[in-house]
This record gives sequence, structure tokens and C-alpha cells, in this order.
Amino acid sequence: MPDSHPPDRSLPREPVAAILEQLAADGSWAEYGGVWTRRLQERLCKTFGATTARLTCSGTLAVELALRGVGVRSGDEVILAAYDFPGNFRSIEAIGARPVLVDVVAAGWTLDPAQLDAAYCEATRAVIVSHLHGQLARIDVIRQWCDRHNVALVEDACQVPGARVGGRPAGAWGDASALSFGGSKLLTAGRGGAVLTSSEEIAQRMTVFAERGNDAFPLSQLQAAVLLPQLDELALRTEQRRRGAEALMEFLEEASSVVGPGHWKQEDIPAFYKFGVMLPESETRGPAEIRQRVLEAARDAELPVGTGFRGFHLRSLRRCRRVGDLANARTAAAATVLIDHRVLQAGDSEQDSGILARIVELFDRWR
Ligand SMILES: *Cc1c(COP(=O)(O)O)cnc(C)c1O
Repeated sequence: MPDSHPPDRSLPREPVAAILEQLAADGSWAEYGGVWTRRLQERLCKTFGATTARLTCSGTLAVELALRGVGVRSGDEVILAAYDFPGNFRSIEAIGARPVLVDVVAAGWTLDPAQLDAAYCEATRAVIVSHLHGQLARIDVIRQWCDRHNVALVEDACQVPGARVGGRPAGAWGDASALSFGGSKLLTAGRGGAVLTSSEEIAQRMTVFAERGNDAFPLSQLQAAVLLPQLDELALRTEQRRRGAEALMEFLEEASSVVGPGHWKQEDIPAFYKFGVMLPESETRGPAEIRQRVLEAARDAELPVGTGFRGFHLRSLRRCRRVGDLANARTAAAATVLIDHRVLQAGDSEQDSGILARIVELFDRWR
């Protein structure tokens, strides 16, 4: 599925061109792996405080390898939020394990730690936790719960490289954590991903699954090489997007009834792949109807607004177990729209604040 939005024009140009020139000159692009994949692995380990960074062909596969790495097997249960990236549900199924759906926090998109006790049973082997739409999950609280229950934590940091929670990088909290380098993600090689871990045992299990004479889910030298200059600029770019998100948040709080990703704790650093917004209900219209109108109007006005995930609350009970009524996840699935990087990069120019005003006008038109 190609990404409909245009590439991020603020991606580093000259450093990428210089590295590609080097690959062309020395022929290293034609190798299975080598200096560039090794450098990327070292760099990822340093950035995220891991001892192993296994490079993969996608973030989706990184989540599956992480689950296999922590020892999930056929017949086990894996807890995840009922609002999440669709591939995470499928990755659990791919192993023959059973997804167990829990609710997300109110007016948000991340797993509600208060639901974990009710979801737990003898078969629980792992929890998947994603940071989504600019909202950081309560991963510190979930980490403690997992430790108490001897359940593995798989952290999906695909949307938030560069973020920090409780003094640690997002992506450093899981027993195994997944990154995506897919097109438009904050770190991108067009395709690709990685699993980070500090456990030899987990790394070994992933190797046993993925090595079939060769790495069956690889990242190429070319892809590894273009990620390196982006890691050099990660802190700077995280900061730029955070400023863009703050401007957007202020604007929404003053001018609109919609709810954004909320404020982060002072010691945390958020990261914004896309900026999530929860549309309000009105007296006459439900969120799904309001959203449809907003999306149509956004398309007509060529404004960079898209839909969120569909959620798993309608999945058949043959495929999963549900905990509670999943009311917040239902709302998130019906009422979420996502604003992409073109707005997060808006500066102070008149044209840029014009975009914000036009988007907010769209949100509030159908109240
Ligand atoms: C993009 C994404 C993935 C999957 O990454 P791909 O590289 O596109 O396979 C997984 N989880 C989340 C939360 C994502 O945003």
C-alpha cells in the first residue's frame, strides 16, 4: 500500500547524496551486508541502549520477530490495545497465538495499564505496547506490571524514534522493541525496520527463526547507509517536530473543540510521526459521520488530514478475546483523524498559520 503523502522535504539531502556516492564508488551497495549494516546496528544500539539491533525488512516483521524472540508460541495469549496498528494483531496470529484486546486510555490511543489485571491469565506470554499519534504510552507503569507478572513486554516504537519516557528512550523499555524505517516514518529508508534487545536469549531466538542460510527478512546496505545521516539529525528533527506540534496544540486549544494527543510530562520528550486528533460528537451527529464529512472536506480542500486505524473491536471472537467493553477504543476508531508532517513543519509564515486555521475550521464546521 503506497503512502499517499509526499516525501518529507526536510530529510537530509547532501549527507545522503554523499553517502550514496560513496556506496557507488566502492561497490558496497552490491553486498548482502557489511560496513553500512554494521554501522547502523552499532548506532542503533548506542542510541537506544540495546546490545543487539537486528535489522529487518519492515516494522511489521520487526514486531513479529520481537514476539518470537520473547518466546511467544502457538497457543499463548498476547495482550494488545484494541486500537493499534493492524499488523500487530496479524503478527500474533501468524505465530498461532491469541490476541487479547484491552481498552486504550480515555480520549487517547495507547494501552490503558489499568486493564491489564483483568486481561491476565495463565496463558499470557506477552504485551504489545505502541506509542501512537504523538501520545506516549504509560510504558513505565506497564513495564512494572510485566515484571510483576513475569510477562514479556514488546514495545512498538515505530512512530516515535527520538522520543523519551521517564528518562529512557522510547524503544528501550521492551524486552524487545520494534522500529520501522518505512516510507514517511521519522527514520526512513523507504522500507525496513529493526528489533532492539539486550537479551542474548531473545537475539538468539530471532536468529534461529530468521536465518535460513541467509537472513530471510533483511535490510540492505543501501537502506542502512541512508539511515545513518538521519540518526545524526534525530535529536534536532525531533525538536523541530515537537515545536510544530506545540504550535498546533496551542491553536487547537484556543480555537477548537477537538482533543489532541494531550500534554506530556516535563521529563519526557514526545515524537510526532503524525498528530492525532479526536473529533467531538455533536448533538445531532455521531463521530463517524462527522469524520466522514471532515475527511471529504479535507480532500476537496487538499488539506493533509487522514484517518486513524480501524481498531480491532469488531474482530470475531473466534480470533481474539476481549476484555471489557472497549469503549475508548471504539471512540478512537470512529473519531480519530491524523494530521501529517506538512502541518507539523509549518513555521510562522502567514501561509502556514493559514493552513492551521483552515484545518480547524474543518473540524468545527459540523458540531
Ligand atoms: C508503521 C508502523 C508499523 C509497521 O511498520 P512497517 O515498516 O510499515 O511495516 C508498526 N507499528 C506502528 C505503530 C506503525 O506506525
